Amino acid sequence: ARSVVIVGAGQAGSETAAALRSRGFDGRITLVGEEPWLPYQRPPLSKAYQTGTVGQEELELRPASFYSDQRIELLRGDRAVKIDRELCTLLLDSGRTLPYDTLVLATGARPRALPVPGAQRPGVLVLRGLDDAEALRQQLAGAERPLQVVVVGAGFIGLEVAATARELGHCPTVVEALPRVLARAVSPVMSDWLAAEHRSRGTELLLRREVVALHGAGTGDGPVQVVELDGGTRLPADLVVVGIGVLPNVGLAVEAGLNVGDGVLVDEQLRTSDPAIHAVGDCARFPSVHAGRPLRLESVQNASDQARTVAAVICGEPAPYRALPWFWSQQFTLRLQIAGITAGHDEAVTAGDPEQGRFSVFCFRRGRLVGVESVNRPADHGIARRLLTAGPDLTPEEVAAPGFDLKNRTA
Ligand code: FAD
Repeated sequence: ARSVVIVGAGQAGSETAAALRSRGFDGRITLVGEEPWLPYQRPPLSKAYQTGTVGQEELELRPASFYSDQRIELLRGDRAVKIDRELCTLLLDSGRTLPYDTLVLATGARPRALPVPGAQRPGVLVLRGLDDAEALRQQLAGAERPLQVVVVGAGFIGLEVAATARELGHCPTVVEALPRVLARAVSPVMSDWLAAEHRSRGTELLLRREVVALHGAGTGDGPVQVVELDGGTRLPADLVVVGIGVLPNVGLAVEAGLNVGDGVLVDEQLRTSDPAIHAVGDCARFPSVHAGRPLRLESVQNASDQARTVAAVICGEPAPYRALPWFWSQQFTLRLQIAGITAGHDEAVTAGDPEQGRFSVFCFRRGRLVGVESVNRPADHGIARRLLTAGPDLTPEEVAAPGFDLKNRTA
């Protein structure tokens, strides 16, 4: 039987292993993960895990017995260090060498470090793994007084952490260099609405401002106390959380001579420039039919759907990766859901009631629906996903018409 080795035991890697077995793949499956835990979900790390509603065990994607029952060899706490493409082997940090017929890179991404003096000080945190989440939880949940929490970056992680900090009674300030929040991910209408929601709940939001240095006690290694912005503004800080985006983990691929850009470059079958090696999830840059260009997506949807596609390809039943991108974020009681890719739209029409916190923004490009952003309107999101998958023929005029209700449109 053939042997598949998967590097990275996160969302994409573990779903690939599971999808191979559910397709009837009978060969050997080895899943190599550097983290010590069972494969787990990251989304709650910035949300329910911080507030204590979800504990560590509930984060696990599957119980330990799943891997043994399915004959998936899960190597935890071991790191892949080198691919030998000629011999078709993978070398691990432990010294083990794994032969493969097919190798799947599912190495994910890591937080971008804040490139300013003082960024190494204690009290400056990032959020990617369970260890990061636990360090943050101890600070936020363990504090005996309200903390001044400075969040750098108004992306999803930054806004979710700020919302959580506020819910726990702390005083968050979000500093964002761009003129609006979530600038790369949502429409200006949605950015403005979300910014107002955060402010009305007591979060300070500073746009068009940059962090230039982090200061603290001692010359360089004392805990952070002050965040200095451009223009000299100094914000007091007990804690700084940096959420300024991620970098794909491409080191193994680069060293092996695979084609790499912002991510490991793959085709529609998620194959790298070496046909025996695939890449999936946050680390992969693929040609997106929905965006009309190569793209790297950081979402559970993308990791899981790419896992299913790669499993089909490995089983000899290839179908190009064309799944519709979708995403969600939870901030306070606001559930934001996005179907499609709204970046690059030229027209946005709002339906529903923003004042009541229940509405959707329909985004069009040259008259064609490209994405829908919904707040607390799960039905809109569900229908939008079906519409966008089927090939949308909804027009801006229809959405703008009085009494428009997406439910009356049969997808
Ligand atoms: P990962 O889950 O990062 O897994 C990659 C794994 O590979 C890691 O465990 C890493 O340690 C391991 N690895 C890397 N290199 C090696 C090596 N050389 N050897 C061995 N192991 C290696 N998405 C949503 O859709 N909705 C959300 O609300 C949402 N919230 C999020 C909140 C947080 C705090 C974070 C961090 C992410 C969130 N995401 C969310 C994004 C989502 O979790 C990621 O897109 C998803 O986890 C990507 O899966 P992946 O398997 O590609 O990468």
